[in-house]
Amino acid sequence: MKRKINFNAGPAMLPMEVLQEAASAIEEYKNTGISILETQHRGKDFEAIIEESKQLVRLLCNIGNDYEVLWMQGGGRLQFSLIPMNFLLNRAAYIDSGHWANQGIESSKFIGETVTIASSRNINYTKLPQLPTEIDGDYSYLHFTTNNTIYGTQWQEMPKYNIPLIADMSSDIFSGKRDYTQFDMFYAVAQKNLGIAGNTLVVIKKELLQHQARKLAPIFCYNNHVLENSILNTANVFGIYVSLLMLRWITKKTLVQIENENNQKAQLLYDTIDNNPHFNAYIQDKSDRSFMNVCFTANDALIEEKLLDSCAENNITGIKGHRSIGGFRVSLYNAITSNDVKKLVAIINSIN
Ligand code: PMP
Repeated sequence: MKRKINFNAGPAMLPMEVLQEAASAIEEYKNTGISILETQHRGKDFEAIIEESKQLVRLLCNIGNDYEVLWMQGGGRLQFSLIPMNFLLNRAAYIDSGHWANQGIESSKFIGETVTIASSRNINYTKLPQLPTEIDGDYSYLHFTTNNTIYGTQWQEMPKYNIPLIADMSSDIFSGKRDYTQFDMFYAVAQKNLGIAGNTLVVIKKELLQHQARKLAPIFCYNNHVLENSILNTANVFGIYVSLLMLRWITKKTLVQIENENNQKAQLLYDTIDNNPHFNAYIQDKSDRSFMNVCFTANDALIEEKLLDSCAENNITGIKGHRSIGGFRVSLYNAITSNDVKKLVAIINSIN
Protein backbone atom coordinates (compact mmCIF):
# COMPACT_ATOMS: atom_id res chain seq x y z
CA MET A 1 0.00 0.00 0.00
CA LYS A 2 1.22 3.50 -0.78
CA ARG A 3 -0.04 5.54 2.14
CA LYS A 4 -1.56 8.89 1.18
CA ILE A 5 -1.10 12.22 2.88
CA ASN A 6 -4.59 12.74 4.25
CA PHE A 7 -5.65 16.33 4.95
CA ASN A 8 -9.25 15.44 5.85
CA ALA A 9 -10.96 17.38 8.63
CA GLY A 10 -12.07 14.28 10.49
CA PRO A 11 -11.85 11.35 10.63
CA ALA A 12 -8.28 12.54 10.21
CA MET A 13 -4.82 11.16 9.67
CA LEU A 14 -3.24 9.21 12.54
CA PRO A 15 0.50 8.69 13.16
CA MET A 16 1.83 5.42 11.73
CA GLU A 17 3.13 4.31 15.16
CA VAL A 18 -0.39 4.61 16.57
CA LEU A 19 -1.91 2.67 13.67
CA GLN A 20 0.67 -0.08 14.03
CA GLU A 21 0.16 -0.43 17.75
CA ALA A 22 -3.62 -0.46 17.31
CA ALA A 23 -3.27 -3.09 14.58
CA SER A 24 -1.16 -5.30 16.81
CA ALA A 25 -3.70 -4.93 19.66
CA ILE A 26 -6.43 -6.04 17.26
CA GLU A 27 -4.54 -9.29 16.78
CA GLU A 28 -3.82 -9.70 20.45
CA TYR A 29 -4.01 -7.27 23.35
CA LYS A 30 -1.04 -7.46 25.76
CA ASN A 31 -0.53 -11.28 25.82
CA THR A 32 -4.11 -11.81 26.95
CA GLY A 33 -4.92 -14.27 24.17
CA ILE A 34 -7.77 -12.04 22.99
CA SER A 35 -8.09 -9.00 20.73
CA ILE A 36 -8.65 -5.46 22.03
CA LEU A 37 -11.91 -5.71 20.04
CA GLU A 38 -12.97 -8.57 22.32
CA THR A 39 -11.76 -7.00 25.56
CA GLN A 40 -14.38 -6.68 28.29
CA HIS A 41 -15.47 -3.17 29.20
CA ARG A 42 -15.75 -4.15 32.88
CA GLY A 43 -12.44 -6.00 33.10
CA LYS A 44 -9.09 -5.01 34.64
CA ASP A 45 -7.41 -4.36 31.26
CA PHE A 46 -9.95 -1.77 30.21
CA GLU A 47 -10.00 -0.21 33.67
CA ALA A 48 -6.24 0.33 33.29
CA ILE A 49 -6.80 1.96 29.87
CA ILE A 50 -9.39 4.34 31.36
CA GLU A 51 -7.15 5.21 34.32
CA GLU A 52 -4.04 5.90 32.23
CA SER A 53 -6.01 7.96 29.70
CA LYS A 54 -7.51 10.08 32.47
CA GLN A 55 -4.09 10.54 34.02
CA LEU A 56 -2.55 11.67 30.71
CA VAL A 57 -5.43 14.10 30.03
CA ARG A 58 -4.86 15.64 33.48
CA LEU A 59 -1.12 15.96 32.85
CA LEU A 60 -1.53 17.45 29.37
CA CYS A 61 -4.15 19.92 30.59
CA ASN A 62 -2.32 20.62 33.81
CA ILE A 63 -5.58 20.24 35.76
CA GLY A 64 -6.12 18.80 39.21
CA ASN A 65 -8.73 16.71 40.97
CA ASP A 66 -11.21 19.57 40.83
CA TYR A 67 -12.04 18.31 37.30
CA GLU A 68 -13.66 15.05 36.23
CA VAL A 69 -12.46 13.38 33.03
CA LEU A 70 -14.98 11.32 31.04
CA TRP A 71 -15.18 9.34 27.83
CA MET A 72 -18.61 9.40 26.24
CA GLN A 73 -20.28 8.33 23.00
CA GLY A 74 -22.68 10.20 20.70
CA GLY A 75 -20.19 12.67 19.20
CA GLY A 76 -20.24 16.45 19.47
CA ARG A 77 -23.94 16.50 18.75
CA LEU A 78 -24.82 14.63 21.92
CA GLN A 79 -22.83 17.18 23.93
CA PHE A 80 -24.79 20.00 22.24
CA SER A 81 -27.92 18.55 23.88
CA LEU A 82 -26.50 17.23 27.15
CA ILE A 83 -24.95 20.56 28.11
CA PRO A 84 -28.27 22.47 28.27
CA MET A 85 -30.10 19.43 29.67
CA ASN A 86 -27.66 19.24 32.57
CA PHE A 87 -26.75 22.87 33.17
CA LEU A 88 -29.27 25.31 31.63
CA LEU A 89 -31.37 26.60 34.49
CA ASN A 90 -32.87 29.95 33.40
CA ARG A 91 -30.94 30.83 30.29
CA ALA A 92 -27.64 30.15 28.63
CA ALA A 93 -25.35 32.33 26.48
CA TYR A 94 -23.81 31.17 23.21
CA ILE A 95 -21.28 32.52 20.71
CA ASP A 96 -22.24 31.79 17.12
CA SER A 97 -18.92 31.58 15.26
CA GLY A 98 -19.59 28.77 12.79
CA HIS A 99 -21.73 25.84 11.77
CA TRP A 100 -21.01 23.69 14.84
CA ALA A 101 -21.40 26.60 17.24
CA ASN A 102 -24.76 27.22 15.61
CA GLN A 103 -25.77 23.58 15.94
CA GLY A 104 -25.08 23.90 19.66
CA ILE A 105 -27.44 26.89 19.78
CA GLU A 106 -30.18 25.08 17.87
CA SER A 107 -29.91 22.08 20.21
CA SER A 108 -30.05 24.27 23.30
CA LYS A 109 -33.27 25.92 22.09
CA PHE A 110 -35.07 22.60 22.61
CA ILE A 111 -34.22 22.79 26.30
CA GLY A 112 -34.53 26.42 27.38
CA GLU A 113 -33.84 30.08 26.75
CA THR A 114 -30.80 30.35 24.54
CA VAL A 115 -29.22 33.75 23.98
CA THR A 116 -26.70 34.38 21.19
CA ILE A 117 -24.42 37.09 22.56
CA ALA A 118 -22.30 37.40 19.41
CA SER A 119 -22.58 36.06 15.86
CA SER A 120 -20.84 36.33 12.51
CA ARG A 121 -23.45 34.28 10.69
CA ASN A 122 -24.54 37.25 8.52
CA ILE A 123 -21.03 37.43 6.99
CA ASN A 124 -20.84 33.67 6.40
CA TYR A 125 -18.54 33.25 9.40
CA THR A 126 -15.63 34.86 7.51
CA LYS A 127 -14.53 36.49 10.79
CA LEU A 128 -14.81 35.73 14.45
CA PRO A 129 -17.71 37.71 15.94
CA GLN A 130 -17.06 40.82 18.00
CA LEU A 131 -17.66 40.04 21.68
CA PRO A 132 -19.54 42.41 24.00
CA THR A 133 -17.40 43.85 26.77
CA GLU A 134 -19.88 42.69 29.39
CA ILE A 135 -22.90 40.45 29.49
CA ASP A 136 -25.76 40.91 31.92
CA GLY A 137 -28.21 38.27 33.02
CA ASP A 138 -28.22 35.14 35.10
CA TYR A 139 -26.75 32.86 32.47
CA SER A 140 -25.97 29.30 33.55
CA TYR A 141 -22.95 29.20 31.25
CA LEU A 142 -21.38 30.57 28.07
CA HIS A 143 -20.79 28.03 25.29
CA PHE A 144 -18.38 28.60 22.40
CA THR A 145 -16.25 26.73 19.86
CA THR A 146 -12.49 27.26 20.15
CA ASN A 147 -11.82 26.34 16.50
CA ASN A 148 -14.37 26.53 13.71
CA THR A 149 -13.58 23.48 11.61
CA ILE A 150 -15.58 24.38 8.49
CA TYR A 151 -14.62 28.07 8.11
CA GLY A 152 -11.10 27.95 9.52
CA THR A 153 -11.26 30.48 12.34
CA GLN A 154 -9.81 30.00 15.81
CA TRP A 155 -9.93 32.03 19.00
CA GLN A 156 -6.49 32.95 20.33
CA GLU A 157 -7.89 34.69 23.39
CA MET A 158 -10.71 32.94 25.20
CA PRO A 159 -13.87 34.87 26.16
CA LYS A 160 -13.83 35.99 29.76
CA TYR A 161 -17.01 36.77 31.70
CA ASN A 162 -18.21 36.04 35.15
CA ILE A 163 -20.12 32.90 34.18
CA PRO A 164 -19.01 29.28 33.68
CA LEU A 165 -17.20 28.83 30.36
CA ILE A 166 -17.89 25.72 28.26
CA ALA A 167 -15.81 25.06 25.14
CA ASP A 168 -16.18 22.72 22.20
CA MET A 169 -12.52 21.98 21.42
CA SER A 170 -13.22 19.20 18.94
CA SER A 171 -10.88 20.48 16.25
CA ASP A 172 -8.01 22.01 18.22
CA ILE A 173 -7.61 20.14 21.49
CA PHE A 174 -3.95 19.36 22.24
CA SER A 175 -2.80 21.31 19.20
CA GLY A 176 -0.65 23.43 21.50
CA LYS A 177 -0.31 24.78 25.01
CA ARG A 178 -3.43 26.28 26.58
CA ASP A 179 -4.55 27.28 30.05
CA TYR A 180 -7.31 24.73 30.62
CA THR A 181 -8.11 26.04 34.07
CA GLN A 182 -10.04 28.94 32.52
CA PHE A 183 -12.73 26.47 31.39
CA ASP A 184 -15.46 25.00 33.56
CA MET A 185 -16.05 22.35 30.95
CA PHE A 186 -14.45 21.38 27.63
CA TYR A 187 -15.01 18.52 25.26
CA ALA A 188 -13.64 17.16 22.00
CA VAL A 189 -14.71 14.45 19.61
CA ALA A 190 -11.79 12.07 19.13
CA GLN A 191 -11.67 11.82 15.34
CA LYS A 192 -9.36 14.80 14.76
CA ASN A 193 -6.43 15.15 17.16
CA LEU A 194 -7.35 12.39 19.54
CA GLY A 195 -8.09 9.13 17.78
CA ILE A 196 -11.02 7.78 15.83
CA ALA A 197 -14.74 8.52 15.63
CA GLY A 198 -16.93 7.04 18.35
CA ASN A 199 -15.69 8.55 21.59
CA THR A 200 -15.66 12.05 22.98
CA LEU A 201 -13.42 13.43 25.69
CA VAL A 202 -15.45 15.43 28.23
CA VAL A 203 -13.80 17.32 31.10
CA ILE A 204 -16.00 19.04 33.70
CA LYS A 205 -15.20 20.97 36.83
CA LYS A 206 -16.68 19.34 39.94
CA GLU A 207 -18.10 22.70 40.94
CA LEU A 208 -20.17 22.85 37.73
CA LEU A 209 -21.37 19.26 38.24
CA GLN A 210 -23.02 20.40 41.45
CA HIS A 211 -25.34 22.66 39.45
CA GLN A 212 -27.53 19.94 37.98
CA ALA A 213 -30.39 21.90 36.39
CA ARG A 214 -32.97 19.11 36.24
CA LYS A 215 -33.58 15.44 36.96
CA LEU A 216 -32.54 13.30 34.03
CA ALA A 217 -32.48 9.63 33.10
CA PRO A 218 -29.02 8.27 34.06
CA ILE A 219 -27.64 8.02 30.51
CA PHE A 220 -28.21 11.79 29.98
CA CYS A 221 -26.71 12.84 33.29
CA TYR A 222 -22.99 13.71 33.52
CA ASN A 223 -22.96 12.92 37.24
CA ASN A 224 -23.95 9.34 36.49
CA HIS A 225 -21.18 8.96 33.95
CA VAL A 226 -18.77 10.20 36.61
CA LEU A 227 -20.16 7.73 39.19
CA GLU A 228 -19.74 4.86 36.71
CA ASN A 229 -16.21 5.98 35.69
CA SER A 230 -17.22 6.29 31.99
CA ILE A 231 -18.52 2.70 31.95
CA LEU A 232 -22.22 3.41 32.43
CA ASN A 233 -23.06 1.43 29.31
CA THR A 234 -20.85 -0.85 27.20
CA ALA A 235 -17.94 1.47 26.51
CA ASN A 236 -16.21 1.99 23.17
CA VAL A 237 -13.17 -0.01 24.27
CA PHE A 238 -11.25 0.18 21.01
CA GLY A 239 -11.93 3.89 20.42
CA ILE A 240 -10.77 4.79 23.93
CA TYR A 241 -7.70 2.57 23.49
CA VAL A 242 -6.76 4.43 20.28
CA SER A 243 -7.25 7.72 22.14
CA LEU A 244 -4.89 6.44 24.84
CA LEU A 245 -2.30 5.69 22.15
CA MET A 246 -2.74 9.24 20.82
CA LEU A 247 -2.43 10.70 24.32
CA ARG A 248 0.83 8.79 24.81
CA TRP A 249 2.07 10.01 21.42
CA ILE A 250 1.19 13.64 22.25
CA THR A 251 2.77 13.37 25.71
CA LYS A 252 5.99 11.94 24.27
CA LYS A 253 6.20 14.62 21.63
CA THR A 254 5.20 17.39 24.10
CA LEU A 255 2.65 20.13 23.54
CA VAL A 256 5.45 22.69 23.15
CA GLN A 257 6.92 20.89 20.15
CA ILE A 258 3.49 20.16 18.71
CA GLU A 259 2.57 23.85 18.96
CA ASN A 260 5.82 24.92 17.26
CA GLU A 261 5.28 22.52 14.40
CA ASN A 262 1.62 23.47 14.01
CA ASN A 263 2.52 27.17 13.87
CA GLN A 264 5.17 26.52 11.22
CA LYS A 265 2.88 24.31 9.14
CA ALA A 266 0.05 26.86 9.16
CA GLN A 267 2.34 29.82 8.52
CA LEU A 268 3.89 28.13 5.50
CA LEU A 269 0.52 27.27 3.99
CA TYR A 270 -1.08 30.68 4.62
CA ASP A 271 2.00 32.45 3.18
CA THR A 272 1.85 30.24 0.12
CA ILE A 273 -1.83 31.06 -0.49
CA ASP A 274 -1.45 34.78 0.28
CA ASN A 275 1.43 35.04 -2.20
CA ASN A 276 -0.24 33.06 -4.97
CA PRO A 277 -2.47 35.05 -7.39
CA HIS A 278 -4.59 31.98 -8.18
CA PHE A 279 -5.85 31.42 -4.64
CA ASN A 280 -7.55 33.40 -1.87
CA ALA A 281 -7.65 32.58 1.81
CA TYR A 282 -11.23 32.35 3.08
CA ILE A 283 -10.26 34.15 6.28
CA GLN A 284 -8.56 37.45 5.51
CA ASP A 285 -8.09 38.71 9.05
CA LYS A 286 -4.81 37.07 10.10
CA SER A 287 -5.57 37.17 13.80
CA ASP A 288 -8.73 35.09 13.25
CA ARG A 289 -7.06 32.37 11.20
CA SER A 290 -7.10 28.77 12.35
CA PHE A 291 -3.87 26.84 12.68
CA MET A 292 -5.79 23.60 12.26
CA ASN A 293 -8.07 24.11 9.25
CA VAL A 294 -6.81 26.30 6.40
CA CYS A 295 -9.63 27.22 3.98
CA PHE A 296 -9.11 28.84 0.59
CA THR A 297 -10.66 29.17 -2.84
CA ALA A 298 -9.30 29.19 -6.38
CA ASN A 299 -9.97 32.14 -8.68
CA ASP A 300 -11.46 29.96 -11.38
CA ALA A 301 -12.83 26.47 -11.85
CA LEU A 302 -9.95 25.35 -14.06
CA ILE A 303 -7.35 26.17 -11.42
CA GLU A 304 -9.48 24.37 -8.83
CA GLU A 305 -9.60 21.27 -11.01
CA LYS A 306 -5.85 21.42 -11.68
CA LEU A 307 -5.04 21.50 -7.99
CA LEU A 308 -7.39 18.61 -7.24
CA ASP A 309 -5.93 16.55 -10.11
CA SER A 310 -2.36 17.32 -9.19
CA CYS A 311 -2.95 16.34 -5.55
CA ALA A 312 -4.58 13.07 -6.64
CA GLU A 313 -1.58 12.30 -8.88
CA ASN A 314 0.78 12.99 -6.00
CA ASN A 315 -0.93 10.78 -3.44
CA ILE A 316 -2.57 13.63 -1.50
CA THR A 317 -6.20 13.38 -0.42
CA GLY A 318 -8.79 15.24 1.65
CA ILE A 319 -8.31 18.84 0.52
CA LYS A 320 -11.82 19.56 -0.73
CA GLY A 321 -13.65 22.23 1.29
CA HIS A 322 -16.77 21.46 3.30
CA ARG A 323 -19.83 21.16 1.05
CA SER A 324 -21.34 24.30 2.60
CA ILE A 325 -18.52 26.67 1.48
CA GLY A 326 -16.72 24.76 -1.30
CA GLY A 327 -13.13 25.50 -2.32
CA PHE A 328 -10.37 23.84 -0.34
CA ARG A 329 -9.83 22.97 3.29
CA VAL A 330 -6.51 21.60 4.44
CA SER A 331 -6.55 20.26 7.98
CA LEU A 332 -3.22 20.40 9.73
CA TYR A 333 -3.87 18.21 12.77
CA ASN A 334 -0.99 16.90 14.85
CA ALA A 335 -0.27 13.81 12.75
CA ILE A 336 0.42 15.94 9.64
CA THR A 337 4.16 16.61 9.39
CA SER A 338 5.95 19.70 8.08
CA ASN A 339 7.14 17.60 5.15
CA ASP A 340 3.53 16.71 4.26
CA VAL A 341 2.72 20.44 4.12
CA LYS A 342 5.86 21.19 2.08
CA LYS A 343 4.74 18.62 -0.50
CA LEU A 344 1.34 20.27 -0.79
CA VAL A 345 2.93 23.73 -1.00
CA ALA A 346 5.16 22.60 -3.89
CA ILE A 347 2.07 21.39 -5.75
CA ILE A 348 0.15 24.65 -5.10
CA ASN A 349 3.14 26.64 -6.37
CA SER A 350 3.34 24.55 -9.53
CA ILE A 351 -0.27 25.29 -10.59
CA ASN A 352 -0.71 27.88 -13.34
N1 PMP B 1 -17.85 20.33 16.96
C1 PMP B 1 -16.89 20.60 16.06
C2 PMP B 1 -15.97 21.75 16.29
C3 PMP B 1 -16.76 19.80 14.90
O1 PMP B 1 -15.79 20.06 14.01
C4 PMP B 1 -17.65 18.73 14.70
C5 PMP B 1 -17.55 17.87 13.46
N2 PMP B 1 -16.65 16.87 13.55
C6 PMP B 1 -18.65 18.49 15.67
C7 PMP B 1 -18.72 19.32 16.79
C8 PMP B 1 -19.66 17.40 15.49
O2 PMP B 1 -19.15 16.18 15.84
P1 PMP B 1 -19.97 14.82 15.56
O3 PMP B 1 -20.05 14.63 14.09
O4 PMP B 1 -19.13 13.78 16.23
O5 PMP B 1 -21.32 14.99 16.20
